[in-house]
Amino acid sequence: MDTRTGLPVVGMVGGGQLARMTHQAAISLGQSLRVLAAGEHDSAGLVAGEVVYGHHTDLEALRSFARGVDVVTFDHEHVPGEHLLTLANEGFQLRPGPYALSFAQDKLLMRERLAGLGFPGPPFTEVTGVEDVLKFADARGWPVVLKAARGGYDGKGVWPLDSPDDARGLIPELLEAGTPLLVETRVTMRRELSALVARSPFGQGAAWPVVETVQSAGINTEVLAPAPGLTARRTQEAQDLALRIAESLDVAGVLAVELFETDGGLLVNELAMRPHNSGHWTMDGSATSQFEQHLRAVLDYPLGATELLSPTVMANVLGAATPPAMRPDERLHHLFARFPDVRVHLYGKGERPGRKLGHVNLLGELTPRLREKARLAAHWLSHAEWLDGYEIHRGER
Ligand code: ADP
Repeated sequence: MDTRTGLPVVGMVGGGQLARMTHQAAISLGQSLRVLAAGEHDSAGLVAGEVVYGHHTDLEALRSFARGVDVVTFDHEHVPGEHLLTLANEGFQLRPGPYALSFAQDKLLMRERLAGLGFPGPPFTEVTGVEDVLKFADARGWPVVLKAARGGYDGKGVWPLDSPDDARGLIPELLEAGTPLLVETRVTMRRELSALVARSPFGQGAAWPVVETVQSAGINTEVLAPAPGLTARRTQEAQDLALRIAESLDVAGVLAVELFETDGGLLVNELAMRPHNSGHWTMDGSATSQFEQHLRAVLDYPLGATELLSPTVMANVLGAATPPAMRPDERLHHLFARFPDVRVHLYGKGERPGRKLGHVNLLGELTPRLREKARLAAHWLSHAEWLDGYEIHRGER
């Protein structure tokens, strides 16, 4: 407990943008988030209440961090499972706990568990040799998707395979490098959705409106809240599914269930047990943001209202291939001059190609114009280039 405020102390392992934005929400709850950051320039390390430097794979660093807080939570899923178990056995309060987190860390384990519980997902099997993929594809058909069971993110660790030759060309070297693999049917989908929910240790659950997520080269670039045209029945189905998964896996905190919408119904793609890119819109578009909700959940407070305040488009600001000559400060200046209603969330990171540097939210009816505006704004912030040819000193053409 913080002896000054009398409030419990939350510690977050990982100092990325999710911790940064959790800290932002923590301020309103009277908290000063403690962060275990790996590097000096970590996004949350620059702003959080108390920053401890240490690596999330170092048990001693984790233990001494956990000693100083009432509850430990996470901004990523990279803490080794055996460390999580050790800490839990030593009596530290981890939320979510090691059992829940194992399913966010390992896609094969997740597929097996969800299939065992009867949740819908694509057919899959473990891969320990090329033959496993050939046999699977013989039975289920090509094309398939090969995945690293652990350690993948933003499409890294996901390989579409179209033929036996693709499989033979790729799998031996991955196995040689020690990558644990699984293969799945390549799903023909209408689009990707995300069902974001929160669950408290008390057992309360709350679901936000279901959103559509748009990816480019495996990275989420745009989120539409709520998912346009999704029927009330489908929405309810997705929310129920996510709430039931949260309960079955004993999740504490925010859970994002990434879904494929197909002609035959919904399939689960992936789980994340922390605030998630698909929930960044909630910072401006929902009664309670995912960051505040995550804190409420890990503190076992009653959860906040999740209704939509306004439809929202979120667009990620991704680092340009070559950082532009124009300073970020000047880009912001021009952005605000052109679009005063854009809500900007920057992560305080150095620019690198493809890196998630921030996001923008735009509130209003989800028209093509609003989506275009979000896309223009996000691209401008990282590239200093207006995709529609707008000239900053002459205005709209
Ligand atoms: P990551 O952990 O990198 O986010 P995912 O498992 O979510 O990896 O896959 C990244 C993207 O690859 C998904 O958003 C989806 O577009 C595509 N994908 C993944 N699995 C399948 C599948 N079985 N069928 C079709 N596309 C898939």
